[in-house]
Amino acid sequence: MADVLFTNVRIFDGGGEAPFTGDVLVQGNKISRVVKTGYGMRSPPVQGAQVIDGAGAFLMPGMVEAHTHFSWNDQPSLDAIQRMPPEEHILWCAEVAKRYLDMGWTSCVGAAAAKPRLDVVTRNAINDGTIVGPRYLAASQEITVPGGLGDSTQPHLPQPEFAFGAIVSGGEEMRRCVRMFAKYGVDSIKINLSGESITGMSSEMSQFTSEEIRVCVEESKAWGKRVAAHARSTWSVKECVRQGIEVIYHASFCDEEALDMLEAKKLEHFVAPGLAWLINTVHNASEWGLTPDVVKKMGYPRELDAAIESMRALRKRGVRILPGGDYGFAWTPHGTNAKDLEYFVKHVGMSTMEALLSATAWGGPMMRMGKVLGYIREGYLADILLIDGDPLADITVLQDKARILAVMKDGEFHRAPPVRAARATRWAA
Ligand SMILES: [Zn+2]
Repeated sequence: MADVLFTNVRIFDGGGEAPFTGDVLVQGNKISRVVKTGYGMRSPPVQGAQVIDGAGAFLMPGMVEAHTHFSWNDQPSLDAIQRMPPEEHILWCAEVAKRYLDMGWTSCVGAAAAKPRLDVVTRNAINDGTIVGPRYLAASQEITVPGGLGDSTQPHLPQPEFAFGAIVSGGEEMRRCVRMFAKYGVDSIKINLSGESITGMSSEMSQFTSEEIRVCVEESKAWGKRVAAHARSTWSVKECVRQGIEVIYHASFCDEEALDMLEAKKLEHFVAPGLAWLINTVHNASEWGLTPDVVKKMGYPRELDAAIESMRALRKRGVRILPGGDYGFAWTPHGTNAKDLEYFVKHVGMSTMEALLSATAWGGPMMRMGKVLGYIREGYLADILLIDGDPLADITVLQDKARILAVMKDGEFHRAPPVRAARATRWAA
C-alpha cells in the first residue's frame, strides 16, 4: 500500500470548525499528518508517497450510514425482498455493498437482514477482501411476533424455513432466537417494537411485552451484542430508553415524556429517523400504487409531520440524529442515501455543518469506533472523501457520484481521484 499525500485540499476534519486549506498524509491505513498551509503553499514532499494535488477540492471523513439494509432489493414490497432466493440474494448484497462505497459511505451499520445470515456473510466477505464494500456491522433478521411487522407467513401454506422476520412469542423463544443470531456471528440484534403502517399494522401500535424486550436486551448483552429497535410508536421509544436499547430507528411519535427521557440519556442513544423513507413514501411512490389517497389511509402524511416535529425537538435537545434508513425500496434506491442530509437541513433545522457532522463525527461512535473513525486527524483511520464542491454551501453535492472525486477506505483508494479533472474544475470556478 503506497503512502498518499493529499496537497492543496480544503480540510473538513469533523471537529465542527470551518474547513481550512492544508495537506493530509496517509501512511498505511492511517492518517499520519494533517498540516494547515496557506493557499498555494505546500508541505515538503514525503519520500515514496503518491502526491495528489487536490486543487482546492473538499476533503472530509468517509460517511457513516446508520441504518443500512444491504438485502433490501430496491423493490416495492417486503414480499418482493423476501421472495429473492438466497443465491441471488447474497450476490445482490455484494453488489449493493459496493454501491455504498461508490457513494462515499465508507461505513454502514446493518439494521436487519432479510435472511438469517446475509449480513454476516457480507460483512465477512468485505473483511477478508472477497468483495468490495464499506466497513460493516452485521445485523440479525428483524425479530418480531406472530402477526407483527415482519411475519410474512401465510396460514394456509406450509411454514417456510424462514420468514422475513424471525418470529418469536414469549421470553424463552426470544432467548433462543437471540442466541441463534449470536451463534451466526451478528454484531447487533434487531427487534421490531412497533408496527409499520404499510404492512397493515399501524406505526402507532406496539408489539412485544416489556418482559420479552427485557429478555432480548439481557440476552443480547450477555453475548456482547448491541440492540437496535424499529420504534415508531410512542410506547416503543420509551421502552428503548427504559430498557437501554442503544439504537432507536424512526422515533416518529415522541410525546413530551419521550423527549424528556431521551434528552436525559442523550449520550446513550442514537436516533436514525429514516426520513427519506417517509418523505418518498408520501410524495414519490404513486408509481408503485402508493397514491396520495392510499398513503393517507395508511397514515403516512400524519406520521411524516409527527416525525419531523419529533426530530426538530430532539435536535434542539442535543440528541444525536443520524442519516440512513430503509434505503432499498423502489422509491428509495440504495445509493441515494445522502438525501437524508438534505432532509436534515430542509426539515429538521440542522445547519449544513450539523448535517455533515451527523454523517462523520457522530458516525464513529455509531460504528463503535469513536476513537479511530469519523475525523481527519492524526492517528485516525484513513477513510477519506475528496469532493468537487462545498457540501457546507450545498449539501446536495454529496448525492452526485460525479462530484465524489475520490473514496479512500482504510488507506486504500476505492476510487482514485481524476486529478486533472479536479484541477480544471477549480480553475473554471
Ligand atoms: Zn429499517
